[in-house]
Parts: sequence; C-alpha cells; structure tokens
Amino acid sequence: MTRSPRNDRPVVIAGGGIGGLACALGLAQRGFRVTVLEQAHQFGELGAGIQLGPNAFHVFDALDVGPLVKRDAVFIERLLMMDGVSGEEVISVPLDAAFRRRFGNPYAVTHRADIHRALLEGCRGLPRVELRTHAKVAGFAQEGRGVSVQLDGGERIAAAALVGADGLYSQVRSRIVGDGDPPASGHMCYRAVLAAEAMPKELRWASATLWAAPNTHIVHYPLRGWKLFNLVATVVRDRAMGGHNEEASPEEVLPLFAKNCELPMQLMRTPKAFRRWMLRFRPPVANWTQGAVTLLGDAAHPTLQYMAQGACMALEDAVCLAVAADAADGDFPAAFQRYQALRLVRTARVQLSSIMLGHLFHADGVARLVRNEIYRDRIPASYHQALEWIYRAPDYVVAANPKAKGRRKPPPARRTQPKRIRTMTARKPKRAPSKRRR
Ligand SMILES: Cc1cc2nc3c(=O)[nH]c(=O)nc-3n(C[C@H](O)[C@H](O)[C@H](O)COP(=O)(O)OP(=O)(O)OC[C@H]3O[C@@H](n4cnc5c(N)ncnc54)[C@H](O)[C@@H]3O)c2cc1C
Repeated sequence: MTRSPRNDRPVVIAGGGIGGLACALGLAQRGFRVTVLEQAHQFGELGAGIQLGPNAFHVFDALDVGPLVKRDAVFIERLLMMDGVSGEEVISVPLDAAFRRRFGNPYAVTHRADIHRALLEGCRGLPRVELRTHAKVAGFAQEGRGVSVQLDGGERIAAAALVGADGLYSQVRSRIVGDGDPPASGHMCYRAVLAAEAMPKELRWASATLWAAPNTHIVHYPLRGWKLFNLVATVVRDRAMGGHNEEASPEEVLPLFAKNCELPMQLMRTPKAFRRWMLRFRPPVANWTQGAVTLLGDAAHPTLQYMAQGACMALEDAVCLAVAADAADGDFPAAFQRYQALRLVRTARVQLSSIMLGHLFHADGVARLVRNEIYRDRIPASYHQALEWIYRAPDYVVAANPKAKGRRKPPPARRTQPKRIRTMTARKPKRAPSKRRR
C-alpha cells in the first residue's frame, strides 16, 4: 500500500534533464510528492556520450538505478592525455582495481540517453512523481512558505517549493540571480557519434582519450558495449560563432585542428558531418536560493566540460537536496539553505578548475613542453591522490547509499607499473545488484 506523501502541495521541479529527474527520484524516495515540468514535447537527452566518475555512480546507487546505468556503460581502463602535436603520451590514469577500491565505484563512459532513461524509469515507478511535458516554467511568486509557479500558457501551480533544474538558460535563475543569458565562452565544440566499424582501428582504445594541441583538444571514447564511439573536438576562438547543435561540415572543422599529428587527424577526417556547439560559462555565484526556491545543476553552476563533471555535479546536487529536505522534514527554505551551503564550494571548485584545465590542454610553444615535462613518469597513485577531491563522493551522497558504507579510508599510495593500453577488451566489474531503498 502506498503511504500518503509528506507534503500536500508538490515540490515543482522545472526541467526534466538528468539533474531534474535525479532530484525528483531522490525526493520521492523520501516520501515527498513531486511534479516535474519539462518544456519539451517529450522527456529525452541528446544523442551523445558522457563520462561518469565514481562520484556519479554513488548517486546512481543511492537512487537505486545503479545496475540500470551500469548495464550499458563501458568500463574503460584509463584516462589518457596525449600530446596532439608529437603523438606522445602525457598522462595515463589507470582506472583499475586500486582506483575502484579507493573510490568505491568504477569510472565509466555511457550514452546520455541511457542515464536519462534509467532515471525516467525510476521516476515512473514511483506514484509520488508526476511527469509533465509541454510545460514551460515562465516565473514564480513566493507565497507564504510556498511558491506559486507560473507556466508559459498562464497556468499557475501552488507548490510547496520550486527547484530550477532548467539548465544553462534557466528561467528560475533569471529571477534569483538575474545575471542574464550566459555569455559565449569562445570555446566551440564539434561533436559526432561514430559506428565502431568507422572508428580507425588504431584508436579503438579502452580509454577516454584526449589529444591536447595548441588551442584545441579532441576527446574520444567507446559507447554502448563498444558499438559506438563518441567524438568531441573543441577549439578556442577569439570570436563567438555558431549556436546550439547546428550542423558543421568537415571543411569548416578540419583546418581548425590542423596542428594535430596524423593519428588524431585520421579520426577527425572520419565523420561526414559534425554538430557545432558554442560553449557557455558563468562564473560561480555565492547565492542561488530564495526562500522555497532554489537551483540545481547547470542552472546553478554551469561549467565548461573539461573535467567531465557537469552532470556528475547535477546528480550530487540532487541527492544532497533530497537528503536536506528529509532532514528538515519538509521545511524547504531551511533545507535549501543547508543544501546550498553544502554544495557551493565544491561546485565552484569544479567550475574554476575546468577553466584551469582548459589552459593546460591548450598550451602552446614552451608551455606545452613544460606541461609534458611536469607529468612525465608520474606514478598512478599520485594521479589517484590528485583526483581524490573530485572522485571521492561527498559524505552526504555516500550516507544516502547504504552499500557504500565503510569504504571511506583510501588505501596507502603504492608504486605500480603503468600497463600498456588494451584495445576492445573493457570488462564490466563484478558487482551485486543494489536493493531498493524504500
Ligand atoms: C560537450 C559537452 C560534454 C560534456 N561532457 C560531460 C561529461 O562527460 N560528464 C559530465 O558529468 N558532464 C558533462 N557535460 C555537462 C553536462 O552535459 C551538463 O552539466 C548536464 O547535462 C546538466 O544537467 P541539468 O539537468 O542541470 O541541465 P540540462 O541537461 O540542460 O537539462 C535542463 C532541462 O530543463 C528543460 N528546461 C529548460 N528550460 C525550461 C523551462 N523554463 N521550463 C521547463 N523545462 C525547461 C530542458 O528542456 C532540459 O530538459 C558536458 C557538456 C558538454 C556541453
């Protein structure tokens, strides 16, 4: 029998992307009634790949969708940075048993649609979640300790609280932060998804690989049980150009990456067309909450994708917010203050670190040689140590995932020999399926 929800009026979530759905699931699992409003005519995600750190898998486990997400993911063996000019290996981070032991979960690459589907199925399995499409949030007004949420067509919903998970161009943010549209960063990326047969054989590596060259970098990794490969090539330009997901021809793209050596260029010559994106960025802000209204994911702290952590942060936000709402027993203004306080520095660190990483990737001249020298001969454990702050899931996420308890203490650093890159051999880790939390 279904227990009655803890709140009469729903918590409204603007946006049914990865962050919005994860938040709905986390709240509903804790007994709250939730309505997700998605502006599009159906729930869905972009046809592209995504990298997921172990911190994201702790969230999936806490939301009870871990096995579903892991089903179609590829558990790559290393994170690689190659010098695109010389072709030499610069950084190699093993994602081996020591990595999984240390962080309590694996690193994987997967299709965005697969994560989104897992979260959507989770929401559909819970009667407390109402999912609405064609529902664009246009504004809100605080009413007592609740919120009146206004939709594009004029409809109003009396809500206990509002969570703006409405992405980079968030309407909810415009009312709280009021910093206008996100400015173009000058960083543009060209995306393509390739069938595995089309991928150059020499590059079918069990890694997330990044080719760093002056002003550009190229990322590729396998997807969907090695049936596909994801390709994202980024260039920094001095003028903003192009919009959102437009088609771009090889004639436009190839000259921009011409400083790369033959192997990555072989890959760049493979797609018949790319999708062009202008990347946008906002600097961190100190407040994204107003009474019973708050922001989550890209709406709160949009980041360049260079740490591959934007969606991971949205997922962590979701669990943190749900745990805070639970602890405050539905006092949403108090819960949202607590949630923001817990999330602010970590998410801002990702935003700022991503910019710094971009400088490292795009180094030119002597700076490029110095970068390569800095990373030469590093031992794997030193990389794991450097990544501890990001891949180690925060306590509130781990606490929400009963299976992960007791995995807090990292093993002592040990010198291990780097292994050669393997091709087409990624194995899934043996893990027991999780139990439903509630
Ligand atoms: C090239 C690229 C590569 C990336 N790679 C990675 C990676 O490897 N790993 C990683 O963790 N992150 C990555 N990211 C970042 C990641 O894509 C985002 O951080 C993540 O998708 C943010 O999720 P979100 O739910 O906050 O927002 P979104 O995914 O933008 O979802 C927002 C949703 O809200 C809806 N919406 C918008 N406005 C309204 C409204 N007014 N009313 C109702 N609905 C509305 C939208 O239709 C959408 O469904 C990458 C980003 C880019 C650009």
